[in-house]
Amino acid sequence: MDIIVLTPSATEEDIRHIIKKLAGKGLKANISSGTERTIIGVIGDTSKVSEDEENAIRAIDCVETVMRILKPYKLASRDFKKEDTLIDIKGNVIGGNRIHVMAGPCAVEKKPIFVNIAKKVKESGATFIRGGAFKPRTSPYTFQGLGEEGLQILAEAREATGLPVVTELMDPRDIEVVARYSDIIQIGARNMQNFRLLLEVGEMKKPVLLKRGLSATIKEWLMAAEYIMSRGNLDVILCERGIRTFETATRNTLDLSAIPVLKHLTHLPVMVDPSHGVGKWGLVIPMARAAIAAGADGLVIEVHTNPEEALSDGEQSLRPDVFKQLMDEIGLIAGAMGRRGHGQDSLRMQK
Ligand code: PEP
Ligand code: MN
Repeated sequence: MDIIVLTPSATEEDIRHIIKKLAGKGLKANISSGTERTIIGVIGDTSKVSEDEENAIRAIDCVETVMRILKPYKLASRDFKKEDTLIDIKGNVIGGNRIHVMAGPCAVEKKPIFVNIAKKVKESGATFIRGGAFKPRTSPYTFQGLGEEGLQILAEAREATGLPVVTELMDPRDIEVVARYSDIIQIGARNMQNFRLLLEVGEMKKPVLLKRGLSATIKEWLMAAEYIMSRGNLDVILCERGIRTFETATRNTLDLSAIPVLKHLTHLPVMVDPSHGVGKWGLVIPMARAAIAAGADGLVIEVHTNPEEALSDGEQSLRPDVFKQLMDEIGLIAGAMGRRGHGQDSLRMQK
């Protein structure tokens, strides 16, 4: 017995009753209060709980199901939930049939530049705009992001395009301000194992885009997702963005095999960011095509109208015309995979 799922009508009193029962067996409870139901993660040596004892818990009125999950990540596991998780962000459903593309520059830049890029990526079929206002830069002497001013620019770009916004949160102290402006909270690769930060976003009612750590195994990555989910926020989107290997021809090694591995292990949606994966704009299109063919639910792509002048990651940013070409190709590949991409949207609109 590792997970106890309560019925939607379970009360505080019911939860206290179960915690007491568990305590009697030397076990502790981790309560995840989601929007629909409460899930109790059982902490301690659950192998000592007999079948009879498990059945006794199952018999409690407010208990819907009791599960034994052998994997270390429980709520993130396919064993916990067979069906794919669908995350609805203002009508854009991630994890379903539709391929989603989050596009924009690495960092939020001055308003006219950023809003112009946002309009251009929307024209080509992007469904979210991205850009960092708080940037995790390797050097403390480089541009660190516009901070709250950048968040305001993101909100203005959302107003101008109608596209929801994805932006990074680096520090729990900024959680309220980032949540106020953003539709999806990004946790960057460098913070994938910042456990305090993961627990904080776990308390929020906003979807989280969790990027894979620079040297994280898939198991470590799923455990990071579990940290978020253990606090009640089940809306986690995983994003492969390349890992460190001995190879130096590309910025990172984009691990596309992670897509089918994750699809087997977890019900969570899987996005791929080929821009950070390869680090060079000319390599982004082929890897984006491959990601969709391998079963990714969408892409994160860096786009800039003037990559030479970009405040960060210009060398891996696509110009809008190249981005449009990529979107058209992705639409075709999505169609071949039985999924819906941006090309199919325009066909539908013409009808
Ligand atoms: C980003 O998305 O701009 C970013 C910093 O990515 P990562 O955390 O994957 O390096
Ligand atoms: Mn970047």
